[in-house]
Amino acid sequence: MCPMITTKMDSRFHGNDITLDRFLENPVIIVRDGVYPQPFIFYLLPAVKTMNRPQPVEKMVEIIKRLPGVGPKMAERLSYHILKMPQGEVERLIDSIQKARQTMKYCGVCFNLSESDPCPVCADSTREYNIICVVETPQDLIAVSKVKEYKGLYFVLGGALSPLDAVGPDDIRVDKLLKRLKSSKITEVILATDTDSKGETTALYLAEIIKPLGITVTRLGYGLPVGGDIEYADEITISRAISGRKEM
Ligand SMILES: [Zn+2]
Repeated sequence: MCPMITTKMDSRFHGNDITLDRFLENPVIIVRDGVYPQPFIFYLLPAVKTMNRPQPVEKMVEIIKRLPGVGPKMAERLSYHILKMPQGEVERLIDSIQKARQTMKYCGVCFNLSESDPCPVCADSTREYNIICVVETPQDLIAVSKVKEYKGLYFVLGGALSPLDAVGPDDIRVDKLLKRLKSSKITEVILATDTDSKGETTALYLAEIIKPLGITVTRLGYGLPVGGDIEYADEITISRAISGRKEM
C-alpha cells in the first residue's frame, strides 16, 4: 500500500508551476515528516545559498596560486590583502612588476638577470677571468656574490637536472656552459649547485663532462646544510664552503 504524499511548498513556489530552472535557482532542502502509514509530508524549504568568491577575486586567486610555493590558502590570503591595500599602493605594486619584467634581461655571457647585457659582473675587467662559479639560479648568484673573497666569474644554469621531473641536460644551459668553457681560458669550475638530490645529480653530471676538457672541477666544501638551497645560505657559510671546496 502506497503512503499518501503531500507536498508543501515554500512561498517562492507556492501558487506557481515549478520549472526546472526556477528549482535550480532556488536551492531547497527536502524535509520528510510523518510516520508510515500516516501521510508523508514533504516540505520544500529554502536552503542557505553558499557564497562563492566573486569572479574577479576568483581570477586573482587562480593566477596568484600559480606562483611557486603559493598554495590555495596563501593565494586567497594574498588576494584579500591586495584588495584591502590603498589604491596607490596597488598601483605601485603593479608598476614595479611591469618595470622589472620590461627592463630585466638575461646576460648573454653568464645568463644572470640584469638591466644590461653583459651584466656588471661579466663587464668587470678586474675579476679573475680563469675561474667560474656555476649556480642554478640568479638568486644563487646574488648569494655567492656577497662573498667578497670570490672574485671569479659566474654561469647560471637556469635549473637543475631532475630525472623524476623529466628535466634533462637540454632543459638547463649545459650546452651553453660547455660552449663558454671551450671558448675561454677557464682553468677551474666551481660547482655551486644546491646540496639537495637535484643539485648533487647536476654537479656529478657536469663534473663528468667538464673534466675531459682539462679543467679542474671543484664542489663547494662542507658547511652548507645537506638538502639546502644556496640562495638561503648566509655569507659566512658560503665563504667557508668556497674556501674549503674539494676537487671532484
Ligand atoms: Zn653576466
